[in-house]
Amino acid sequence: MRVGVFICHCGSNIAGTVDCARVAEIAGTFPDVVYATDPMYTCAEPGQAAMETAIREHGLDGVVVASCSPRMHEATFRRTVERAGLNRYMFEMANIREHVSWIGKNQEANTNKAAELVKMAVAKLRNNRPLTAKTFDITKKVLIVGGGVAGIQAALDCAEGGVPVVLVERESTIGGKMAKLDKTFPTVDCSACILGPKMVDVAQHPNITLYAYSEIEEVSGYVGNFSVKVRRRATYVDWEKCTGCGVCSEKCPSKKTPDAFNEFTGTTTAINIPFPQAIPKKAVIDARHCRQFVRGKCGVCAKVCPSGAVDYAMRESIVTEEVGCIIAATGYELMDWTIYREYGGGAYPDVITSLQYERLLSASGPTGGHITRPSDGREPQTVVFIQCVGSRDNSIDRPHCSGFCCMYTAKQAILTKDHLPLSHSYVFYMDIRTPGKMYDEFSRRAVEEYGVEYIRGRVSAVYPDGLGQYVVMGADTLLGEPVEIRADMIVLAVGIEAAKGASSLAEKLRISYDKYGFFMESHVKLKPVETNTAGVFLAGVCQGTKDIPASVAQGSAAAAKVLALFARDKLENDPQTAQVDVRRCVGCGKCIRCCPFGAIAETEVRGEKKAQIIETVCQGCGLCTSTCPQGAVQLSHSTDNQILAEVNALCR
Ligand code: FAD
Ligand code: SF4
Ligand code: SF4
Repeated sequence: MRVGVFICHCGSNIAGTVDCARVAEIAGTFPDVVYATDPMYTCAEPGQAAMETAIREHGLDGVVVASCSPRMHEATFRRTVERAGLNRYMFEMANIREHVSWIGKNQEANTNKAAELVKMAVAKLRNNRPLTAKTFDITKKVLIVGGGVAGIQAALDCAEGGVPVVLVERESTIGGKMAKLDKTFPTVDCSACILGPKMVDVAQHPNITLYAYSEIEEVSGYVGNFSVKVRRRATYVDWEKCTGCGVCSEKCPSKKTPDAFNEFTGTTTAINIPFPQAIPKKAVIDARHCRQFVRGKCGVCAKVCPSGAVDYAMRESIVTEEVGCIIAATGYELMDWTIYREYGGGAYPDVITSLQYERLLSASGPTGGHITRPSDGREPQTVVFIQCVGSRDNSIDRPHCSGFCCMYTAKQAILTKDHLPLSHSYVFYMDIRTPGKMYDEFSRRAVEEYGVEYIRGRVSAVYPDGLGQYVVMGADTLLGEPVEIRADMIVLAVGIEAAKGASSLAEKLRISYDKYGFFMESHVKLKPVETNTAGVFLAGVCQGTKDIPASVAQGSAAAAKVLALFARDKLENDPQTAQVDVRRCVGCGKCIRCCPFGAIAETEVRGEKKAQIIETVCQGCGLCTSTCPQGAVQLSHSTDNQILAEVNALCR
């Protein structure tokens, strides 16, 4: 074998603490190495061209690059060696940046460690065999989970691109949080007016199938060919028949049903359509509050429905969809702020969340857009906004910034003045973070045009003064003095967390999530929409905090990824899959049970049970190879021989 080794300087990233020329010199002494060099930037165009030339000029049949993480450039270098005529699996990478130069300062130790890693890579390469990918057909249909603004945008872009879309939304209407907002920063245009037409487009687009009031039950398969079971919860109303006339909810006697759409600022009826612009505009019965279900008698809605749509006997159902890609767009929730006892822990009716305040501001909200106190219906004259309630708070392990609270607090303070010109607002803040286009200008308007008083500092206590107002005690950390304000209403900018059930959905989709439940992108900078599971993409706040423009942009980006993938008629599998040695396999089935991808089937060879790998499904995770008691399963490109060769090289 003739091996070439390239020790990359990565500018000073590696060369700063590793003697790359020395590592190349040592590499030249390893078995089968006929060429070793140390380019400045191997991944750059001249670096790749030099590698191609070296492969041709020195007749190389295997290449090792010692540089950054394989997650960064393995695919790049595989393409390079392929261009020079080698099989792409006759290539190995040693990570001497993240694993060496970035974590140690001692040049001698780093140089030695880098040389050891290169020795291991060369030892493995000498055991490599060319591998060939297989091609398979793609189902050109996409499933989108979550119908907030990010999921809606992704659905519309995919549908416009000619791809059939299945949109699954947990609630009975799409729209997500944006549907609950009154107006939106920085333009202060009406949220319903800009979101409404998009929601209608979803309902009317011939390429979009919407399953509202539904959730993902199970996902199997792989990129290009996922099979997804969708649980359609019982609405107790036949949506084929329901015309959305609303007669049922007018007559329903169960009027004390908590109104989730209005963030529990009011009540609704047990059968209801969440808001007038709902898509689909169909009624749903909340069985927990319906007399027919709770007391066993009522039946009013069934009697009054002119379409005969009410069906108390309806059961949930499961539908299966075959799709090629999945976009997760499940958004966020506000955290449970009642853990903050200093703000009353939920005991004071006029201490409310920012999302509840949006519903009070909204013309379609419980007060028709009149700001009134929940306790007595009085218009507040003094409103105190408290930012960062549950954000950037290490004491409750929530170090992250919720991103959009500074902006929406400024918006809500501006709107308060618009609604109640005689009112006065205060904002307690830690820092003002307004980096978007026209954002800083917007938040300044709150102070300069609307007279909102910003106080830098934390609030230590909120309590009723016994005379109908609340005392807000805090500190102005700029002036270094305590502050006490009498307020009629307090609005908390509550921090965000991942949507309920996000981690369980992530496990079904086999994607990673962080400790707060937000889905992990494949690469923070270079692959912000992809996940580590091929064919599963992310859009919106499910990946991390984002305002509406950023959520829409990521929805479009995810759609672009889907359209790019579907531009091909066939996909290639990664040939780094498991292989069963049928002579060793005793058919115990342990591998079948352990495989998280369902990639192993039972087969019969000459009357004996054996395991068989479905190569297009296998993700090469290696679980079966370590589970098989007979050692009958080997992973191509990471065989026992290859791994042992690396270990032996290190120990020698
Ligand atoms: P979401 O709006 O949360 O939508 C997610 C959707 O997924 C929901 O419909 C949810 O029901 C559904 N879902 C969740 N889990 C599942 C599941 N397992 N299966 C199926 N469906 C599921 N941004 C601005 O740019 N301007 C503003 O003025 C503004 N004001 C705001 C005011 C407040 C008080 C708050 C809290 C936020 C504000 N924002 C504003 C931010 C804005 O709400 C978000 O940027 C936007 O809603 C993100 O959209 P999304 O689609 O990612 O998530
Ligand atoms: Fe109208 Fe019947 Fe639908 Fe209720 S269930 S909205 S009454 S059609
Ligand atoms: Fe309301 Fe009665 Fe219909 Fe239940 S059965 S939703 S209580 S009208």
